[in-house]
Amino acid sequence: MSRVYNFSAGPAVLPEEVLKEAAEEMLDYKGTGMSVMEMSHRSKAFEGIIGDAEKTLRELMNIPDNYKVLFLQGGASQQFAMIPMNLMKNRVADHINTGQWAKKAISEGKLYGKINVLASSEDKTFTYIPDLKDLKISDDADYVYICHNNTIYGTKYNDLPDTGDKILVADMSSDILSEPVDVSKYGLIFAGAQKNIGPAGVVVVIIREDLITDDVLPGTPTMLKYKIHADNNSLYNTPPAYGIYICGKVFQWIKNKGGLDAMKKINEEKAAILYDYLDSSSMFKGTVVKKDRSLMNVPFVTGSDELDAKFVKEAKAAGFENLKGHRTVGGMRASIYNAMPIEGVKALVEFMKKFEEENK
Ligand SMILES: *Cc1c(COP(=O)(O)O)cnc(C)c1O
Repeated sequence: MSRVYNFSAGPAVLPEEVLKEAAEEMLDYKGTGMSVMEMSHRSKAFEGIIGDAEKTLRELMNIPDNYKVLFLQGGASQQFAMIPMNLMKNRVADHINTGQWAKKAISEGKLYGKINVLASSEDKTFTYIPDLKDLKISDDADYVYICHNNTIYGTKYNDLPDTGDKILVADMSSDILSEPVDVSKYGLIFAGAQKNIGPAGVVVVIIREDLITDDVLPGTPTMLKYKIHADNNSLYNTPPAYGIYICGKVFQWIKNKGGLDAMKKINEEKAAILYDYLDSSSMFKGTVVKKDRSLMNVPFVTGSDELDAKFVKEAKAAGFENLKGHRTVGGMRASIYNAMPIEGVKALVEFMKKFEEENK
């Protein structure tokens, strides 16, 4: 068996310890004589799995008691519709446009009401986070929506917009659990699992209790009501059970590593290795304004499409997978989520140095 360094933006690398544990438990989960994939979601064993997963996530993120944690399906993209269906009482929302995922949320929101785009970084291909001072939050907005880490462009919010008494909603699909967050600043946080948490098929929603009501837009399907899932502890119907089991193991893995403070420290260390090299290289350049650089997704270019392609090809041959940039952006992107070991980043930088030397 040989594992590569997988820099995929998602589905992404998972901790090796977690995969090994899951492999050991594949045929017989803790004496039940069956795999978690085969067990009833109403069983004691699965109740333990989902209960522990939630408990550990609450500990890690220090989630206040007046927030619910939901394990849902439909990916992050389904939240683009579920959020307006459940929260758009006035049919107005304020959004900040910082990239493709932010844009998709805007277009989906428009199916349900009026979307005000308060600020955008599209003028410079989303290479920065717009200035958040003097944002004119709309009086009639039901919520303000941001994409906290922009997976494709490699930017992240270091500050939050001052939304006053308006609900702040954040897509944290690609940076949840990468550093501590003050959950109380948000009305709703959501994250598709396949970047920094676990397998695709699960989306985690952290939502303040007062936002969970029956007062949803007419025609909202039962399955898309937060309330039905909150009332049933994410067990209204069969949940993505195996995915939740792996998520729980990843939460535990993070806890064993020292929690989110420890994650932040190691993530900053990992990102600095790559960014410092990009800043010193005469071949490779980072594409993002320094102050808005993501700790998770690091896009870079050589300036030549041929050289970019050559780099991606040779990197792959050397065991560095999925370094090609998003199809809409080109260049390269290294996603260095929690589960990417520091050795992987160091090895990548050594490889980049060698490539630079050989292709001067
Ligand atoms: C990947 C991603 C999504 C989409 O996730 P799906 O689970 O494929 O719907 C949405 N937002 C962000 C920030 C992402 O990185």
